[in-house]
Amino acid sequence: MPQTILTVSYLLASMLFILSLGGLSTQETARRGNLYGAIGILIAVIVTSFSPVVKDFSLLMPAVVVGTIIGAMLAARVAMTSMPELVAVLHSFVGLAAVLVGIGNFLQAPHGVGGSHEIAAGAMTVIHDVEIFVGVFIGAVTLSGSIMAFGKLRGSISGNPLMLPGRHWLNLSMMVATLWLGFLFVQSASTGVDPFADMFANGVAPGLIPLLVMTAIAIAIGVHLVMAIGGADMPVVVSMLNSYSGWAAAAAGFMLANDLLIVTGALVGSSGAILSYIMCRAMNRSFISVILGGFGTGGGKAAAPGAAKAPAGEVVSVEAVEVAEMLSSAKSVIFVPGYGMAVAQAQHPIREITDILRKSGVKVRFAIHPVAGRLPGHMNVLLAEANVPYDIVFEMDEVNEDFPATDVVIVVGANDVVNPAAQTDESSPIYGMPVLEVWKAKTCVVLKRGMASGYAGVDNPLFYNSNTSMLFGDAKKSIDAVLTALRSH
Ligand code: NDP
Repeated sequence: MPQTILTVSYLLASMLFILSLGGLSTQETARRGNLYGAIGILIAVIVTSFSPVVKDFSLLMPAVVVGTIIGAMLAARVAMTSMPELVAVLHSFVGLAAVLVGIGNFLQAPHGVGGSHEIAAGAMTVIHDVEIFVGVFIGAVTLSGSIMAFGKLRGSISGNPLMLPGRHWLNLSMMVATLWLGFLFVQSASTGVDPFADMFANGVAPGLIPLLVMTAIAIAIGVHLVMAIGGADMPVVVSMLNSYSGWAAAAAGFMLANDLLIVTGALVGSSGAILSYIMCRAMNRSFISVILGGFGTGGGKAAAPGAAKAPAGEVVSVEAVEVAEMLSSAKSVIFVPGYGMAVAQAQHPIREITDILRKSGVKVRFAIHPVAGRLPGHMNVLLAEANVPYDIVFEMDEVNEDFPATDVVIVVGANDVVNPAAQTDESSPIYGMPVLEVWKAKTCVVLKRGMASGYAGVDNPLFYNSNTSMLFGDAKKSIDAVLTALRSH
């Protein structure tokens, strides 16, 4: 394929990726944004496959076919509640790819004694070596950090922050060791003199040992950074790893001298960093403290997420029929969806209830907390899927002041995002995180199965308030029962 066609196609794909990001910024245009992204990546894969750098299809084609089949099957099968885990796994693949590309790129053209090339000193070589070192470092941190995030999101690793003694010194010493190894790597690779390589009888490419030792350290850094982060800060970690995966891809782009990969990686890296910053602001957390693994956090103690709690007060439980009566005599209602709505898939009957109430003149709105669910925008996606009109769906900041003037709030499977302890209990791990002030409404009904805690693993005093009632059971079944009662009202 001529170079001009390749360049024009890469430019077109880059533009489609930018349009895609623009489209994904609002719900109305999100589908279009997704389509632009998919077309962009299709163009990128096709033209790269036929570019002059590809000389042998025998390995590439099976990899593309098998990858496409696995990707399509995963996307078709994944439940909405497992999306965050899938995203974490995909981030780890990008990290792994950057590590393999970096080490492969280095081995393909090792410099100096024992290598297949003569020592190629000079600025370009040093720059290329730095690219390899940085690319492998970011890739390894992304790889292990994403695997840890996968475990935490799945619940197979505890959500509690791992607070090793002297953990900041540990991070610092690993970073200093990385810088030292970086110096050794660049020096050995360009001079061909590697003190480590002499330790091996048959010799190894100069610089390979510092590169591999750094990879192991970077893997440890990724594990430690994510393990030190508590449950409630996980949303920021997920978007940070998204950002890292972008930078890892950009680094791979530099190593392979592929402009499109550089542009795409930079787009993902910067948009992920902006998203992380926005989420930190929404959660009133310091960006630096979260990415440095809980630096400066109070370290409040949280129980295991989902653990059942010893009763900390009296709860009042209600039946679906009573909730239907509350709703039909209310003038204003706000639904607050959370992770439990995603698990139960209760969004469709909620939309039907919304239609009935709105037809009879009730003002119905939805309040979305920025970290509700397990993925940025998780609740918006579910509500859009159920055709809830966009103009009645509000962000936390837009609606939080309206709770005192609201008759009934229905909390559907949300817990941490409506926890008043975030404002009152300084020892709580979620202290300082802005929450939806549902307790200020005249009546608040919480739909959940039992008294288990949310993702952050902390007790919720909301459940024991005098104006709170609990409708126990799976949220879909409860909402269906409320809908049936409303219809026969
Ligand atoms: P929570 O995790 O705080 O609470 C969800 C509640 O839903 C649980 O208490 C559970 O109680 C209930 N539930 C589960 N299944 C059902 C069901 N089938 N029917 C009814 N209820 C059910 O969710 P929130 O949305 O309030 O908060 C999100 C949390 O996740 C925050 O801590 C956030 O930091 C974290 N997080 C968010 C991410 C994001 O990007 N949005 C990413 C990673 C973490 P019970 O078992 O008793 O039913």
